[in-house]
Amino acid sequence: MNNAKSKKQFDDDSSYEQPSLQIMTTTKLCSTDGSWSDENDEHDPLREEESEKEEESESSLSALERTIPWIGVLVWPLMSTVPLLLSSEYSPISYQDIFPVSWYEFEPNGGRPQPLGLILGLLAVGVGQFWVCFFFYLFKYGYLSARKEPLSIQTKGARVYDFMEGLLTHLAQVEGFVLLMSYLTITWMTGIMPKAYYTFDGTIQYKELFLCLLIQDGLQYTVHLLEHIVSPSFYQISHKPHHRFINPRLFDAFNGSFLDTICMVVIPLFLTSQIVRNCNVWTYMSFGSSYSCWLTLIHSEYAFCWDGMFRLLGLGTPADHHVHHKFFKFNYGHLFMWFDRLAGTYRNPRSFAPRVFNSKV
Ligand SMILES: [Zn+2]
Ligand SMILES: [Zn+2]
Repeated sequence: MNNAKSKKQFDDDSSYEQPSLQIMTTTKLCSTDGSWSDENDEHDPLREEESEKEEESESSLSALERTIPWIGVLVWPLMSTVPLLLSSEYSPISYQDIFPVSWYEFEPNGGRPQPLGLILGLLAVGVGQFWVCFFFYLFKYGYLSARKEPLSIQTKGARVYDFMEGLLTHLAQVEGFVLLMSYLTITWMTGIMPKAYYTFDGTIQYKELFLCLLIQDGLQYTVHLLEHIVSPSFYQISHKPHHRFINPRLFDAFNGSFLDTICMVVIPLFLTSQIVRNCNVWTYMSFGSSYSCWLTLIHSEYAFCWDGMFRLLGLGTPADHHVHHKFFKFNYGHLFMWFDRLAGTYRNPRSFAPRVFNSKV
């Protein structure tokens, strides 16, 4: 009862101008289960004509033009450049060739943590983010799509902004990378991470990497849902700043509030490390980089060519996350939509097409 009341209270929050307007609009158009009613699916001749034109131009693309966008898929393995380069048996270089033994040797009983693992971890996240931003630049400006603007998720189109401004805003968020770097430094150097995290033996452990991503997202789903329903005043000071973006862009991923990042990212990160205790340093850095990069990618204002495949597998896509930013009540998960599907809070972005989202997202 209380939850229902709280939810209604902040949905009706008139001080939160833009999103409230959006909710009022969607209440009119959207049926109770979040899908569009027949009345709202009436034919829009203009939109139909546009989509016919889109289909025509797509069918005229050559095989090469259809293949080029898939180059972008390389961004996924590139997120783990640093751990793969330094620890994979297929890599031409190894951490053992570069660093003296005393820098990475781990003494489980009483040795002080060495900063090398931390420095490489921060570098891994930085390199992962570099690849995401570089890929996104090529993608956004049509270098991967025959110089055409990619498909915007929302029918009103992507927001117009200067790329450098977006990039600098993304990197300079105090509640984003600055806070996360502080968390990583403190937890590493005080030695409170599980012992295995300090070991350099082996390479990326893919099972543990998957478990870290899944558990992190499950915890994040839970905290995210609680932020929305527990109390309107807590929502206002924690998560509301991130929700001012109803048509987010890639660079809005970590733009929110200090408290939001602590609740939704830092606490789940710490709990995940205490649950998955047997990761080595390479797995930990691969997890940190993949997690931050994936969170960034789901805020993209454009759909990626692999999104259809991701949706089949229940993996988070930008359109899935735009549903949350636009309608608030659905898709609380970020990397996986499995928790939403289990809890009944999932909505397929295509159920909001063609009115709000493009049909092909
Ligand atoms: Zn978001
Ligand atoms: Zn939210």
